[in-house]
Amino acid sequence: MSKNGLTREENRRAWLYAALIVLGMGAVAALLVCSRSWNLEAPELRETDPLVTEAARGLDEITVDAAFDPQARTLSVEQRMTLYNRTGETLSQAVVRSWSGAYLAGETSPCASNELYWSCYPEGFDPGGAALERLTVNGREVSVQWLDEAQTVLSLPVEGGWAPQESVALALDYRVDIPRCANRFGETEGVWAVGNVFMVPALYEDGAWRTEAYLSVGDPFQSACANWTVRLTLPQGYSAAASGWGETVRVGDVQTVTFRSEAVRDFALVLSDRYQTAQGMAGDTLVTAYARDAGKAREMVQYARQALETFGEHYGAYLYPSLTLAEVDFPFGGMEYPRMVMLGSAVVEAGGQDFEWTVAHEVAHQWWYAMVGSDSYYQPWQDESLCEYAVMDYVGQWYGAQAREDFRVQRVEAALRTGTAQTVTPGSPIDYFADLEEYTLVCYRRGAALWTALEMALGKEKLDGFLQTYAETYRFGRATREDLTGLMTDYTGQDWSALISDYLDTRMN
Ligand SMILES: [Zn+2]
Repeated sequence: MSKNGLTREENRRAWLYAALIVLGMGAVAALLVCSRSWNLEAPELRETDPLVTEAARGLDEITVDAAFDPQARTLSVEQRMTLYNRTGETLSQAVVRSWSGAYLAGETSPCASNELYWSCYPEGFDPGGAALERLTVNGREVSVQWLDEAQTVLSLPVEGGWAPQESVALALDYRVDIPRCANRFGETEGVWAVGNVFMVPALYEDGAWRTEAYLSVGDPFQSACANWTVRLTLPQGYSAAASGWGETVRVGDVQTVTFRSEAVRDFALVLSDRYQTAQGMAGDTLVTAYARDAGKAREMVQYARQALETFGEHYGAYLYPSLTLAEVDFPFGGMEYPRMVMLGSAVVEAGGQDFEWTVAHEVAHQWWYAMVGSDSYYQPWQDESLCEYAVMDYVGQWYGAQAREDFRVQRVEAALRTGTAQTVTPGSPIDYFADLEEYTLVCYRRGAALWTALEMALGKEKLDGFLQTYAETYRFGRATREDLTGLMTDYTGQDWSALISDYLDTRMN
C-alpha cells in the first residue's frame, strides 16, 4: 500500500497518465509557440512526393524571371521554355497561349460582358496585357505572329521543322502592363492578381492547336502539367502568394522569391503590400492564406485544412507539398490554380457559410482540375460538378449527415427545379452559357445531381472508390468524358453512359 491509498498498479497508471498529460501539454505548448513564431518564410516544405517526382520526369520545363514594379504597374518577364513535341507529327511551329492579350481591348476582354463590365472596370475600361519585346526559337530571333485578333495565340516558327520527341527552346521577353481591373488579372486597391499571365504551351489535339477565345463565362484556358521555376523580384513589404511555396532572399529594398513547382499545369501569382497572413498544417501540407484581414486569413486556413483532410479521405492524397489561398477583388466566389486558390473579396468579407463552402469548392479543384485535368472549355461539368459534389462531402464531414442532406436538397435538387433557357444542359460547352448565373446553376449544381444519382446507384463507398481510381489513373494528365465513363464501366463492371447522358445532355422542360 502506498500513502495515497492506491494499489501499486493504480499508482503506476496514475504516474503514467500524469506523464502523458505533461507530455501532451508540452506538445500543445510547442505547437502554439511554433504557430506564433512562424516567420512566413521559415517553414520547410516536406520532401516532394515520389509520385510528383515521377510525374515531373520528362515534362516541359518553364522558367520565369519576373520583376514587379508597382509604380510602373508592370511585370518585366523573361520566360524560357523547353518544350517536347509529343504529337507524333513533325510540326512547323510551336504555339503558346498568352491569355493576358485578351485584356488589351474592350472587344476581347473577358471582363467586358454586360454582366461583368462594371464590376471589373468600375472606373471604365483600362487596357493591360503582354507587350512582346524579343522572341527566339532555338536561339534564332523570330518576329511576332499572333494567330488571333485578341493576341492570345502566339505562333513561333521552328526552322527546319520540329520532329516528334525533339525539344525546342523558346525565349520570350515581354512586359506585362497590369490593368486597373477586378479580375484574375488586374489590380484593385493594392492587390495585384497575375492569373493566366505567364505564357503556356497551347494544347495540340486531334491534329490541331487549341485556339479557343478567352470567354467571360467559365475557365477557357487549359494546359498540360509542366515543371515551373519562377524567380520573382519585388519591393520589400510585398507578399507573393503563388502556385507554390517560395524561398525569399532580401537584399536592400528588394526581395527575390524563388518558386519551384513540379508537375503543375499553370502558375499564378497575387502580389500585395496590404496582406495579413496565416498559416497552418493539414497533415504534412503547408497551408498559407493571404487576406486583407488577419481573422479572414485564419478562417481560410482553417477551412482549407478541413477541406484537404476531407477530400484526402474521400478521393486520395493531395500530392503537392503546399497550398496557398489569396483574397482577390473579383466578381467570382473563387478561382482555382494549381497549388493556389483565389477567393473573391465579397465572399471573404460576407463570411459565413458561403465563404466556407467556396473555400471547400476551390480546394476540391486541387483534385478535379489541378491534379486530374479535363477539358474546361468543352466539358466544364467534369471538374465543376465534381467540386460542387465535393462540398457535400465537406459539409457531411464537418456538419453531419443532416446538413449534407440539406445541402443536397437546397443546392442540387433545387437547381433541377429552377427554370433556365432550354438550350443548355450540364454537359454543354462554356460558350453555350449566357452568363455566370446560368452557368453556376446548370453546370455546377444540376451537374452535381449526376454524382448524387451515382452515389444512390453505387453506394457512397463504391463511388469514392471510383473517384480514387479516377484520380490515380489521370493525375497530372487530362481525362476526357469518354475516359471517365469508360473507367466507370471498368471499375463497376456496368455501363453507366445512359444515366450519365440523362443527367448531362437532357434539356429540362
Ligand atoms: Zn469551380
